[in-house]
Amino acid sequence: MERENAWKKYNAEAIASLEGVSARYRAFLDGGKTERECVKEAVALAEKNGYIDLEEAVNAGRRLQPGDKVYSNCMGKSIMLFHLGATPLEKGINIVGAHIDSPRIDIKQNPFYEDTDIAYADTHYYGGIKKYQWVARALALHGVVVKKDGTVVDIVIGEDENDPVVGVSDLLIHLAQEQMGKKLSEGVTGEGLDIIMGGRPLDGEEKEAVKAQMLALLKERYGIEEEDMLSAEIEAVPAEKARDFGLDRSMILGYGHDDRVCAYAQLEAMQTLPAVPKYTCCCLLADKEEIGSVGATGMRAHYFENAMAELIALTCDSYSELTLRRALKNSRMLSCDVSAGFDPLYANVFEKKNAAILGRGVCFNKFTGSRGKSGSNDANAEFLGKVRRVMDDNGVFWQTAELGKVDVGGGGTIAYICALYGMEVVDSGVSVLSMHAPQEIINKADLYEAFKGYAAFLKDAE
Ligand code: MN
Ligand code: MN
Repeated sequence: MERENAWKKYNAEAIASLEGVSARYRAFLDGGKTERECVKEAVALAEKNGYIDLEEAVNAGRRLQPGDKVYSNCMGKSIMLFHLGATPLEKGINIVGAHIDSPRIDIKQNPFYEDTDIAYADTHYYGGIKKYQWVARALALHGVVVKKDGTVVDIVIGEDENDPVVGVSDLLIHLAQEQMGKKLSEGVTGEGLDIIMGGRPLDGEEKEAVKAQMLALLKERYGIEEEDMLSAEIEAVPAEKARDFGLDRSMILGYGHDDRVCAYAQLEAMQTLPAVPKYTCCCLLADKEEIGSVGATGMRAHYFENAMAELIALTCDSYSELTLRRALKNSRMLSCDVSAGFDPLYANVFEKKNAAILGRGVCFNKFTGSRGKSGSNDANAEFLGKVRRVMDDNGVFWQTAELGKVDVGGGGTIAYICALYGMEVVDSGVSVLSMHAPQEIINKADLYEAFKGYAAFLKDAE
C-alpha cells in the first residue's frame, strides 16, 4: 500500500504549474504573517475574482443567483468565500476549511519597561511553541493599535529591508552550564521571552530614558502613546521571508505553513471552479485554531452558520430554520490542516507505514486526537470512500496518515466542530517538517496536490 512520490510523474507542464502555485504561495506567506493580514489578502484576491461582500448584498437586499460569488469577513480575522452553485443550498454545499492563525509571541497589554539601559516589551506566547526556538533570531512586529477615538493604526516593523528588527536574547554558552542541564521545556521560560526594543537614551531624559526614546519613536512613526497599548494586538513573528529550500528547490522554508499552506491551496482551488458549480462551494479560513478555536473568530463561534443563514435568505423565497439545518447537515467538508511529515531524524515517534511522507501528495487523516483518538472527528468510512474516488478520478496524488505513534502525543483541528452540524468531514492537509517552529518546511509537490485535491473536491464531491 506504499504511495508513490508525485515528482516522479510530473511532466514539464505540471512542474511549471507547480512552480506558479509555489511562487504565489510564497508571496501570500510573506504578505500574510498574521490572521488579519491573511484576511486582507483573501479579500483582495476575492474582489479581484469578482466576489462581493455578503454584508453589502444583505444591506442592499440583493437576491443571489447561481454563479454569484460572495465573501463574508468576520471581524477581519476569519473569512468565508462562497461561490453559489446550481443546486439549492438545502442539498448541502462543498466546503474546504483551514485556519490562518499561527503560533507566535504576542505583546502584553502593559508591555514596556527598561532594565539596565535596555528597553523591553513583555510578551505572552500564542499557541504551542518550543520557547527555546524563539530566542536569538530576528523578529518583526505586526498588528494593530486602536486608539480611544476608534482610530485603528496598522503596525508593521521589520519587514522592509531598511527596517530595524527586534528579538529576544539568549544566554551565552559560556555561562549556560545550569541552563544546559535543564529540560528543553524549561531552558527558556514564557516570562523570559521579553523582546529587546531599544538601547539608546533620549536626550535630556533622566528616568527610563531608553524606554522614553522607544516611545518617542513609536509616537513619531505611528502617533501612538504608551497607554494605547492597552487596546492593541501586536504579534512578534519571524522577520524572514519564505524561501525555496533544498538544492533542488523542491521545498519551501517559511513561517506559518501551519496552516496557511492549506488556506492558500484552498484560495487557489476556488479560482478553478466553473462559472456555475454543481454545488455551492465554500472556502473557510478560521482564526484561533491554535488556541482551541475559541472566541468570536474561532471555529466554535457561529459565523459560518450565520453566513449560511444569510445565503438562504438571499436565495430562497422565504427564510426557514429547517432549510438552514438541512443545508448544514447535507454538506461535505475537507477540514484542511497540516499533518506531521515523517522525519527520518526522529523516526522513533512515527509508525512509518501510517505516516505522511513529504512529496507523496495531499494527506488524509481519518482521525486525529490523542490517547485513543480523544478529541478526534474520526471520519466515516463511507465518506472516505467517496473522497478516494474523487481524488483518483482527478489524478490527485494522495496518501493517508496518523499524527505519529499512538501513545506518543497527538493534536486536533476544526473538523470535530463542523461535524457537529451533522455534515461529513474528513481531515486533509499538507505534511510539514518542524511544525510550529519559527521556520517550517513543506514540499512543493504536496502543496500542488493539495491545490489539485481541493479543486477536485469542490467540483465533484456529492
Ligand atoms: Mn494547524
Ligand atoms: Mn498547529
